[in-house]
Amino acid sequence: MSIVIIEDEPAIADTLVHILEMDGFDVHWFTTAGAGLAHLQQQTADLVILDVGLPDGNGFDLCKQLRQFSAVPIIFLTARGDEIDRVVGLEIGADDYVTKPFSPREMLARVKLRLRKLQPAATATPVQSVKKWEAKNFDYYYQGMALGLTALEFKVVHALITHSPNVLSRAQLLDATQAPADCGYERNIDSHIKAIRIKMKQLGCSEALKTKRGFGYYFEGFM
Ligand code: CA
Repeated sequence: MSIVIIEDEPAIADTLVHILEMDGFDVHWFTTAGAGLAHLQQQTADLVILDVGLPDGNGFDLCKQLRQFSAVPIIFLTARGDEIDRVVGLEIGADDYVTKPFSPREMLARVKLRLRKLQPAATATPVQSVKKWEAKNFDYYYQGMALGLTALEFKVVHALITHSPNVLSRAQLLDATQAPADCGYERNIDSHIKAIRIKMKQLGCSEALKTKRGFGYYFEGFM
């Protein structure tokens, strides 16, 4: 499996590259946001490890850019408390974070945990052969069946699943879709949700997408 590391500190990157390669991963290391983005636009990865402070930008902006075209799991490397607050706020589509300094073993464990959640066929326990929810090719699959989501609907579902079981407001969901802020735009989220629910209902899983009245929406029981 392929892992992309975007980190400008060689000492940290070397350690990560070493321990991941020792474990059999195919590792690509980049020192700038631009180089990492260019690579990920050309080639898929199974997971991205992303530093927040990069020479040509920050990891948060890069994460948002990646989320426009990819649902790849992203683990942030954070150094400071305020960075952790932003990652934990999970408004940027991150899947997990590890704080510096970290032990390589801890990082390896996080990477494996994250990949196990997304790649059941390769690594899951035998009792669960088909994953309940799975992101693949910009669509979500429920028990192996594709929902048939549009690009915008995929972004909405992805944001909800990534942040589950937290409630996301219409504004947060709109932000996740990167849609232009036209008038009445927050209502558009409601119509996307409606369309998503119809597709979920066809697969018998519409119960998972909940409305929190007065706040927004959330996803329940996707694991
Ligand atoms: Ca850095």
